[in-house]
Amino acid sequence: MPETYIHNGPLVIGAGLAGLSVALNTAPHKTLVLAPVALGVACSSAWAQGGIAAALSPEDSPEAHATDTINAGAGLVDEEAARLLTQLGPDTVRRLNELGAPFDHNPDGSYVLNREAAHGLARVARVGGDLAGKAILEAVTTKVLAADHITVWEGAIAYGLIRSDPETVIGAIVEYEGRLIHVFAPVVILATGGAGGLYAVTTTPAKLLGEGMAMAALAGAEIADPEFVQFHPTALKYGDPSPLATEALRGEGAVLVSKDGYRFAFDDHADGELAPRDIVARAVFRADAELGGAFLDATKAIGEHFPHEFPTVFAACMKAGIDPRVEPIPVVPATHYHMGGIATDLEGHTSLKNLFAVGECASTGVHGANRLASNSLLEAAVFGERVGHIVSETLIGFTPDPASALVPGLPPQLPPEALLALRQAMSQHAGVIRDEAGLTALLQFIDSLKTTHGPALPLIAARLIAECALQRRESRGSHYRRDYPQTADRAERSFVRLKEGRIEEREPA
Ligand SMILES: Cc1cc2nc3c(=O)[nH]c(=O)nc-3n(C[C@H](O)[C@H](O)[C@H](O)COP(=O)(O)OP(=O)(O)OC[C@H]3O[C@@H](n4cnc5c(N)ncnc54)[C@H](O)[C@@H]3O)c2cc1C
Repeated sequence: MPETYIHNGPLVIGAGLAGLSVALNTAPHKTLVLAPVALGVACSSAWAQGGIAAALSPEDSPEAHATDTINAGAGLVDEEAARLLTQLGPDTVRRLNELGAPFDHNPDGSYVLNREAAHGLARVARVGGDLAGKAILEAVTTKVLAADHITVWEGAIAYGLIRSDPETVIGAIVEYEGRLIHVFAPVVILATGGAGGLYAVTTTPAKLLGEGMAMAALAGAEIADPEFVQFHPTALKYGDPSPLATEALRGEGAVLVSKDGYRFAFDDHADGELAPRDIVARAVFRADAELGGAFLDATKAIGEHFPHEFPTVFAACMKAGIDPRVEPIPVVPATHYHMGGIATDLEGHTSLKNLFAVGECASTGVHGANRLASNSLLEAAVFGERVGHIVSETLIGFTPDPASALVPGLPPQLPPEALLALRQAMSQHAGVIRDEAGLTALLQFIDSLKTTHGPALPLIAARLIAECALQRRESRGSHYRRDYPQTADRAERSFVRLKEGRIEEREPA
């Protein structure tokens, strides 16, 4: 029999940069944060390497940053969202710095800024070389643990959303310390990150399975653009998850070569290795399949400087038995970021009352069909702060009534072998290159898993991605259909809801 716990403040599900940024800004309301594991680990935020993008130099401006964001998103960026993100960006980065995140600074006190693909100029603030996410999250975690208004349940996992009527969320089903608890709260904020773990080859923690998106969809919330999944062109061809070989390596001159030393990236784009991320990902995918492998050669451009310039990548390579100072690194494209997710407005409201979403699990429309590099830590921090303020300003003294609760059934867990099979099928059919036959076969496979194992949350999330990928008969940004290689004249976002596990409707924005 589940226990009942009534919490009279915001309930934050997820403890990456987005969830913790919300919590830091909800004072004085008592805020409960659910973290499946210890703070600071097993979330993408802690693994971010390159840094955080913001207009921090005198040559730059939020408008220029917004323009690059809009251009990268291949016609689907919500321009208002991009302007808001980029205008709030610089102050948010300064606040993270004041909070204790040790950003790299030049001797004159200015931020050390890197240039990454599709940015018009150097705009990515670094922390400790390639340790941005870890260092930022450590600073935020220290503040969270010291904050009187925040309680963290470490080891807590949410399985479903509780509603009082079909349109209003009043809590979540949570497993914590071996107990099943119905946690009731006046406001619930989903900050559960991405869906990389649905794929066999991913750079994200494997436990990130799109569960927040699935829980929201099952509760009736609108989902936006789930088919848009970004694949990073250069993950090490080793390990699960696959360690990332950051884009900054190519920025520093590392080149992509086939087994025979051929620089294949120029076949697809005049900018070669520095072409947009989706184009390079497809080139690497083909080289891996057709040219005997793809390799990132940093021996000339970086060589002996590798260990201190890219300590995280260096350690991952050495662990895989590759010395990147003297030999090329075998690479593959890997699932890296989910642009789609729970549809929200610019204040984080979802389509359901009292339910907010923030960070990678949300879809504000800021990333469109392709995320601009290093805009996602910024999104997590900017919208996290913003949602925290909005929640605390609007929180009314409403105590949910467990007697009126619509509690969903506990979703089944997918056995490990079924999850592995799902991940392989997702990489094969909903990955870098897609087509109707593959996506149809994938949907049938997801259905067969559902028949055998029941409606597990990863199956719900996978179906949203696959079904919208099948319905989008064009290629745009990260979504490439070999059977529909053209980009449609009219750019339309996908907005869908589930009914009995299937997509109910599909309407343009
Ligand atoms: C290797 C790597 C490098 C990256 N580098 C950069 C970079 O340089 N710059 C940049 O801007 N972005 C980068 N990104 C992307 C960026 O890190 C993420 O998009 C961002 O940190 C997402 O933050 P988040 O808080 O939304 O999600 P996360 O940080 O992933 O946190 C999600 C949280 O939700 C929890 N959760 C999930 N499901 C449940 C559940 N059912 N119940 C309870 N809790 C749950 C998770 O355990 C976790 O605590 C990188 C990503 C990766 C993987």
